[in-house]
Amino acid sequence: MDEHEIANHVFAVVDQAAYRNAANRVVGVHVEIGGRRVFDLDRLQHVFSEVTRGTVAEGANLFVKVLPVRHHCQNCGHNFEAGRVESPCPECKNPHTEMIGGEELRLLDMEMDDVA
Ligand SMILES: [Zn+2]
Repeated sequence: MDEHEIANHVFAVVDQAAYRNAANRVVGVHVEIGGRRVFDLDRLQHVFSEVTRGTVAEGANLFVKVLPVRHHCQNCGHNFEAGRVESPCPECKNPHTEMIGGEELRLLDMEMDDVA
């Protein structure tokens, strides 16, 4: 999933939510994205502004919260947060840990303006 796919996905969710809420305009969009997804924030915001041009969300600010990636140690069962790369377990030093989650893409909140 690249920036275009993320932006299109976010817009699809925003568009439906705006319709359900009978909003005339969306001014802010807050999403959380799992840290395992590789994307460039500036590029995502740029693409999002292109995707939303001429829509209810034109000009909306996109706020992105990047979630930490969780790792699970198969040796001692410890779960911890780390970056996108493979990280050793801080408890038992086992170098082989499994990444869990980190691919979330969720709409957290939307700021809407109902005044036409
Ligand atoms: Zn461990």
